Amino acid sequence: MRILFISSEVTPFAKTGGLADVAGALPRALKRLGHDVRILLPYYQCVEERGFQTEKIPLSAEVSIGGESRRTLLRRLEMDEIPVYFIDHRPYFYREGLYGSPAGDYPDNAQRFALFCRAALAFLPKLDWRPDVVHLHDWQTGLVPVLLRSGLRNDPFFSGLATVLTIHNLGYQGLFPPEILPAIGVDRSLFSIDGVEFYGKVSFLKGGLVFSDLLTTVSPTYCSEIQTPQMGFGLDGVLRARTADLFGVLNGIDTEQWNPALDAAIVSAYSPADLRGKGRNKRALQKELALTPSSSVPIVSMVTRLDTQKGLDLVQEAWEALMQRNLQFVLLGSGEEKHTRFFATVRNRHPGKVSINLGFDDALARRIYSGSDLFLMPSHYEPCGLGQLIALRYGALPLVRATGGLADTIVDPLQDAARANGFAFADASVKTLLSTADRALVRYADRRNWLKMVRRGMSQDISWKNSAQRYLELYVRAQEKRRDG
Ligand code: ADP
Repeated sequence: MRILFISSEVTPFAKTGGLADVAGALPRALKRLGHDVRILLPYYQCVEERGFQTEKIPLSAEVSIGGESRRTLLRRLEMDEIPVYFIDHRPYFYREGLYGSPAGDYPDNAQRFALFCRAALAFLPKLDWRPDVVHLHDWQTGLVPVLLRSGLRNDPFFSGLATVLTIHNLGYQGLFPPEILPAIGVDRSLFSIDGVEFYGKVSFLKGGLVFSDLLTTVSPTYCSEIQTPQMGFGLDGVLRARTADLFGVLNGIDTEQWNPALDAAIVSAYSPADLRGKGRNKRALQKELALTPSSSVPIVSMVTRLDTQKGLDLVQEAWEALMQRNLQFVLLGSGEEKHTRFFATVRNRHPGKVSINLGFDDALARRIYSGSDLFLMPSHYEPCGLGQLIALRYGALPLVRATGGLADTIVDPLQDAARANGFAFADASVKTLLSTADRALVRYADRRNWLKMVRRGMSQDISWKNSAQRYLELYVRAQEKRRDG
């Protein structure tokens, strides 16, 4: 099957979160299953800065945005035999950030991602390759199905093209004022409750949800949650109306990219069969981050976007009580200023016990996963979560709030001792967070049982293999749906 991934971020070219990991790893897994997969993303400044050598394709497309004709170019490289295309339009994508700066979102994000979607569709007929299925991701690509099923509806090149849209996080919808419509080239007739209108605004994501052939999200539990008013971000009605076309498929991780036995960024390699290296990584991490050297004090870590979604309010409320516990705390994160400010304030209050690292740093993240004992993720909601999967693979037991994909992947000893791979609590309260942390600390002191859980977590199959197979079934189903109308 020929499958085109269109995504606003893809590892290793550009990443702000889990979406990039998925858009980088799932194509590889599909390729391994013998399919012809290609990827398309914007040509950001960071792609060039990271030294990726791209080849300019002698093609261009004119896309009209805001009445102005904008020339876009196409670049290409190969990643593990997968062709990766980049939409090159410097005025929009050659910037410091993907979606914004520390001051907030870029004010022209509607124009930027409308251009991305429209340029994708403009280039497609010019390539000597026509996909069977286009796999779209999040609001940034939501206009692709809108355009396919409106202006391009009768175009023979596009009419048979099946679309699958994956929701990685319903909290980000791409909402813009309706005045934007003429500028982004979407017909005003689509601004209705059956189209892109969402409470008086234009919603890129809703457009995608309404017009894609099939919808998926990244875990079975999140799939149910988003169809409820409590967790549907106002789109639960739209999703319930499409419940027959909506599927939850759990993310995996790229087990070659995330492998403590081969990871060049960590100090010492290790595996479930030989965990000695993990102790060395812990010592090295303590040294690197100026923590008190100790093999017996557990390191509790977080590697996260600093967003309230991630339960940082709970961590902050629990902070003083956590600091009373016999543990070391490591944070690596970037994001919202209110959280940055809190962690910047407390960072020097506990020398030897706390290390706060503000920023985005993939290599440090790897050293933290490999040196930690517990990985904290008390999210209010979590579509799938990759942090806890990476932590499992690196032998840091996840301590999570049981929501979305965290509920689907982490088993607490109280739930099932024979399958336990972490610690989970349901209530979003400081009290339960602390009592669960205390249970984890008691377990940590019980070395034999702790290591049993660590080995179990590290040996779990969290690769993409099963889920890639599931996506293939859904691609076939999307094609059938397209054929049958
Ligand atoms: P989300 O997509 O909501 O941010 P996930 O848990 O699905 O959360 O994915 C987060 C991914 O981003 C993981 O690979 C994690 O290691 C990585 N990550 C998050 N914050 C940072 C950071 N500050 N530095 C390096 N990697 C980070």
